Amino acid sequence: MSELAGYNAVITGGGRGIGAAAAVALARAGAKVSLASRNESQVVEIAAELRNQGHEAFAFRCDVTEPHQVRELALSAREAMGRIDILVNNAGTATSNPITRITHAEWQHIMAVNATGTFLCTQAVWEGMADRRWGRVVNVASVAGLSGAKYVSAYTAAKHAVVGFTRAMAEEAVGSGITVNAVCPGYVDTPLTDETVARIVHHTGKSWQEALSAVLDQAGQPRLIRAAEVANAIVGFCHVGAHAPNGELLVLDGSESE
Ligand code: NAD
Repeated sequence: MSELAGYNAVITGGGRGIGAAAAVALARAGAKVSLASRNESQVVEIAAELRNQGHEAFAFRCDVTEPHQVRELALSAREAMGRIDILVNNAGTATSNPITRITHAEWQHIMAVNATGTFLCTQAVWEGMADRRWGRVVNVASVAGLSGAKYVSAYTAAKHAVVGFTRAMAEEAVGSGITVNAVCPGYVDTPLTDETVARIVHHTGKSWQEALSAVLDQAGQPRLIRAAEVANAIVGFCHVGAHAPNGELLVLDGSESE
């Protein structure tokens, strides 16, 4: 499978979970990959594993909430790979709290990582993609970007912002050769979901399995989604041929056959 041979991708939050799976899937599809994360040791490790498997992979430290670090990332990734054709805006973070307990700092952080980071990274690569009349931007939103649930208002607002940004940028992209799409997964088997389950265990005294079942039941999900399933959907949005989708929001809710 080498549909993406000759194409270069940047994946934010590429050190673990969905971002790491997306980096692996894009590399296997033939792309050169630059993994960026606030946590440098994670991306260094995944990039080294990919290079051991014969892929071209680079790692960069970047906090997507910091405009100057995002500009640095775009420069460094261009220097390493030549240009940036694909951007996966995956870096994200979540907390759960009722409205009375969300601090201003928590709200701002959730908005900054999920929404502002997506804006900053897209802005940093847009001109180069537009100049070459080809680009793929894939945003990792969430089912929380399409509907609401209790105790996750900050995350839900931030992911609704990502969905709105995706819709608007898809319109702005029409005729440019760039496409902008989003994946909207339910609960995925990643460290972020582990943190959610751990919080429930801590607050309720439930066992891990009971807490996980409660999370899945509340979401109406039959099972946890695998990170590789989300990664495959991301690669699907990087399609190089004609009729590439634009402005699509692909929901993954675990009802798909594995
Ligand atoms: P994760 O916590 O396992 O990994 C997130 C990665 O992002 C980590 O490598 C982390 O270091 C990095 N990161 C966090 N803040 C950053 C910042 N400011 N700058 C750069 N990197 C940063 O999370 P995950 O479950 O793999 O989630 C990835 C994306 O998928 C997020 O946007 C998340 O909201 C979304 N998502 C996750 C789920 C789920 O159930 N896990 C469901 C729907 C959507």
